[in-house]
Amino acid sequence: MTPARIAAAVAAQRPLVQRLLDGVAEIGADPPGITRDAFGPGENQAQALVAEAARGLGLVLASDAAANLAMTWPGADRSAPRLMIGSHLDSVLHGGNFDGAAGVLAGLAAIAALRGLGLRPRQDITLLATRCEEAVWFQLGLIGSRAALGLLPVAALGLPRTGTGRSLADHIRDCGGEPEALAAGTRLIEPATVRAFLEVHIEQAPQLVEADAAIAVCTGIPGNIRHPRIRITGEDAHVGLPRRFRRDAALAGADLALALEALWREEEVAGRAMACTIGRFHTLADRHAMTVVPGGFEMSLDLRAYEAGHLAALEQRLHGIVARIAAARGVTIDLGERNAGAVGQMDPGIRAGLADAAARLGIAQHPLGSPASHDAADFAAAGIPTGMLLVRNRNGSHNPHEEMETADLMAAIAVLAVWLAEAGCEAA
Ligand SMILES: [Zn+2]
Repeated sequence: MTPARIAAAVAAQRPLVQRLLDGVAEIGADPPGITRDAFGPGENQAQALVAEAARGLGLVLASDAAANLAMTWPGADRSAPRLMIGSHLDSVLHGGNFDGAAGVLAGLAAIAALRGLGLRPRQDITLLATRCEEAVWFQLGLIGSRAALGLLPVAALGLPRTGTGRSLADHIRDCGGEPEALAAGTRLIEPATVRAFLEVHIEQAPQLVEADAAIAVCTGIPGNIRHPRIRITGEDAHVGLPRRFRRDAALAGADLALALEALWREEEVAGRAMACTIGRFHTLADRHAMTVVPGGFEMSLDLRAYEAGHLAALEQRLHGIVARIAAARGVTIDLGERNAGAVGQMDPGIRAGLADAAARLGIAQHPLGSPASHDAADFAAAGIPTGMLLVRNRNGSHNPHEEMETADLMAAIAVLAVWLAEAGCEAA
């Protein structure tokens, strides 16, 4: 089967892709953006839409204990390690339509194209729509893939969801899952039964726009260390208090933010890719006032890097900075809960295969480290050979202005389909 024939079969799936993109947009419509709430109606309806399309393609559907949806194209040898592709269907609050969903639809379209060509898989090909990838819902991301691979901390089941205040366990149960099985640490996917995991996802930065390339073969996914609730405690005081007596928690927070940015600049100069983000940064709303020196302050931190050793070194630096600022400002800085996401190593063979498929299809691609965390990182951390294709996207993500062109997604689907055909299909 030539790449050109596969590309033509993929192009013929464009109406299906557009119908489903429009469908998930309608489900998530929440002006000024898109909200598909995790373990809630938004994600459930998107799953139902995708499930209906998968049934139409003759795929076998199954839902696991974390209520992830698996859609399998059965292979000739059902006991052989399968190929998995997938992404997530939830979004952030007032986000864009494509973060996550585009990757699930890409998998469906690739399978539809290969089936249409009369191919059949040698082993199962499973498309996975994971639950709750976005950290906004429970202050912990990648929940569906972590749960599937036995990587979900048991304590996470008690986390309250944004918007409902109900626990993750309750939400999983509502969606037909079994939180008890997850609490027991049961692995829903045994890594040895998966030969490879591939994820298509929009790029969450404008680097492909800058490089004038439709897609990227991802070179790595950053691991992260997250502190959702850092608390700084000083002392509330009168606005007239001389500076030397103050224990100003807000200024300590400002020091911490600027010290972390200085660290980032230093690493950038040294050529070591990383990022740090302080998404929440505020005085305490029940106490703050114009005429009170703030004694309390809260912030969050996401620190990310592409190598485990580098990330560990950055965490050491963070602790040093925190100790220095606490002493200088006379405050205590409690970093609080710590969540870690593993660095996602991309498999060199899969990377080469995807790049080669793109070259043979005449599709411009540009190797790129993913700026964001993805479900794929969990599969890589579980020891499963993993690859990712990133799709050009204007205006970033996690905002209503996310903008992916369907033509660019179709290019990624063509590359995915060629890879799947060559790695795991035969003439029926
Ligand atoms: Zn995503």
